Order: sequence, then C-alpha cells, then structure tokens
Amino acid sequence: MSENRMAKDVLKKDDLIVITGAGGFIAGALTRYFHDQGFTRIRAVDKKPLPKWYQRVEGVESLCMDLSEYANCVRAVEGAVEVYNLAADMGGMGFIERFRVECLRSILINTHMIEAAYRAGVERYFFSSSACAYNVTLQQDPNVRALKESDAYPAMAERGYGWEKLMSEMFCQEYWAERQLKTAIARFHNVYGPFGTWDGGREKAPAAICRKVIEAKDTGKHEIVIWGDGNQTRSFMYIDDCVKGIDMIMHCDALIATPINLGSSELISINTLVSLAEEIGGVKLERHYDLNAPRGVAGRNSDNTFILQVLGWEPKTPIREGLAKTYAWIEQQYFARKAGKHTVRD
Ligand code: NAD
Repeated sequence: MSENRMAKDVLKKDDLIVITGAGGFIAGALTRYFHDQGFTRIRAVDKKPLPKWYQRVEGVESLCMDLSEYANCVRAVEGAVEVYNLAADMGGMGFIERFRVECLRSILINTHMIEAAYRAGVERYFFSSSACAYNVTLQQDPNVRALKESDAYPAMAERGYGWEKLMSEMFCQEYWAERQLKTAIARFHNVYGPFGTWDGGREKAPAAICRKVIEAKDTGKHEIVIWGDGNQTRSFMYIDDCVKGIDMIMHCDALIATPINLGSSELISINTLVSLAEEIGGVKLERHYDLNAPRGVAGRNSDNTFILQVLGWEPKTPIREGLAKTYAWIEQQYFARKAGKHTVRD
C-alpha cells in the first residue's frame, strides 16, 4: 500500500472544484472541508434556492441550478478540474420506499453530469453511490454478514433508488473503460451528523431518533414511536469520516472506476440507537413500535476489508461520539425553530 494521496497533494489551490448537491447534507460538508483546506475556487451547485441550503460557505461560488437539464450540467462543470457529483433526489426509508419515481429520475442528473464532465475534460469525477445498490436478498436477517463490494451482483438492488445507483455506477465504469475519464465510486452506508436533514420526512434514523427524544423531553410526553420492531440493524458513518473518505477514494489510482464501501462497520440495532439517544438526553421513554412503518432491509453492515486493504483506513468515529454531537446540534435546531428562527430543514 502506497501513501494515500488527497486533494491537497494533487490539486493547485486555485484549481476549480465543482460540488453538486451542495445545498444538502454531505456535499455541503464536503464544500466546507475543501474551503477550510484553502482551496480558493469552489463551485457549489444545487437546485434548492440558496436560502434553503443547509450550509452556505463564504467565498464559494454557489449556484442554484437543476442538474437534470443537460445545459445546466454543461454550465456547472465549465473549467472544472474535479467534479464531485452528489446531487440526488433522496431521503431516508420513508422517502425512498414511497417516491421511487423521484429516485429513479436522478438518473437524469447522473447521465448528464458525467457526459458534461467528460466533454469539459475534467481530470477526475466522483459519484456517490449507496449501500442500497446491494442485493436485498443478502439483507434479510438482522445478524447480517457485512456486505462486500462483489455482493452487488447478481443484481437485486433496492427498487427505484438502488437500481438507479447501480446503473449510474455502470456509467462511471464504462466512461473509464471506453473514454478514459477517471471516475471514483463510493457506496455510502448511512451517513449522519450535524447539518443533515432532521425533520420533514426525508430524515434518516439517527436524526429522527434524536429529534423524537428531544421532542419527548421538551413536551414531557415520555414516549417514542419506533419504525418496525427496532431489531433492524445498521451501521452509521459520521460525516467527518465520510468527507475524508471521499477525498481519499477520489485520489487513489488503484480505485479508478472501482466501487468501494464507504461506511462504518460498527453494527447496531435501532433499539440500541434509541437507548444511546436516551442516554445522551438523560431520559427514558416508553417505546411503541409501528410495524406498518417503512423499515427497509432487516440488517445491513459494511465489510471494510477492501478499503482497509487499499487505503489502510476506515471510518472509525464511534456511534456514541458522533451521535452526541448530532444530538447537540439537533437540539439547538429544535429550540431555534421553536423560537421562530431559521433552521435546516426541507
Ligand atoms: P441531501 O438530500 O441532503 O442532498 C442532496 C442534494 O441534491 C439536495 O440538496 C437536493 O436539493 C440536490 N438535488 C436533488 N436534485 C437535484 C437536481 N436535479 N439538481 C441539482 N441538485 C439536486 O442528501 P445527502 O444525504 O447529502 O446525499 C448526498 C449523496 O449521497 C446522494 O447522492 C445520496 O444518494 C448519497 N447517499 C447518501 C447517504 C446518506 O446516508 N445520507 C447514503 C448513501 C448514499
């Protein structure tokens, strides 16, 4: 294994970095990450109107554009050296099980973005795939075997969202094979942290659970509704690990056009996640289980053998530590909203 290369080792400070989906959670954090490293030309793009962006980073060119239109993709990548394409219509299980058409339509963003990036002659192109691309038949038991990269085929991905990701991965692989565009493909496993969606229907389990605990404490109604029986298992990756992983994967030549897991391998059940949030909040709640709610696959974990082998690194922030930071941020958002102030939500 050679020394890992990162953007700071490869790019000049004034090389143009384009980040899409930057009004959202992960790409917003990525924008801040590159900005904080001293990159002076960053173009952030999202279809959300600017006041609705989760983070607006000073000194960054921020554009509101719909990237399902090819002409906008051409404009977005103009002059770019690297493109990080994270724009997608997505949310937690409540969203992706209900709005499959919206999820599938993200194929428009991904087909247009990669073509525009190729034509603009960008040096590297990053695509954010998902663990939902994996074969669902391997995820029917809470005591799952962790998913390794080869488990995506034979394909039986999550309907809608997962199939779209799988197809867009293939574009990345074929643009490299036929047209020599250097692509990077990371399969994210549940990302959480401050500046993520925490309310409104698109939020994921860690944020939703923190919000419910905070709400229960505030209202004095010491109850919580949990989706499913709470025995579903998942691993959760803290946002700081995610952005660092994106940087490393993007700049590793051994990973060109090669899908790789980017996730934590610390498996926990939703019930344990609730207990952790209760501990952080210093409260104990009566649990009610909604067995009709969307619950996703029974279990899912990230097999990190490959990333450890290639990068000698894996996302390591313990859930207890990351959840405490996330809880504190959501609590501040919750009370800001109550006081009528601007908050991060869809
Ligand atoms: P997010 O919803 O916070 O951010 C996505 C952003 O894309 C949104 O701000 C949205 O407005 C924007 N967008 C949607 N359609 C667009 C369009 N047509 N043109 C321009 N912008 C558009 O989601 P996120 O959690 O930050 O996810 C980022 C990427 O990572 C997505 O590709 C997602 O599928 C992938 N991913 C996320 C997770 C996770 O746990 N958060 C897990 C696996 C994969």
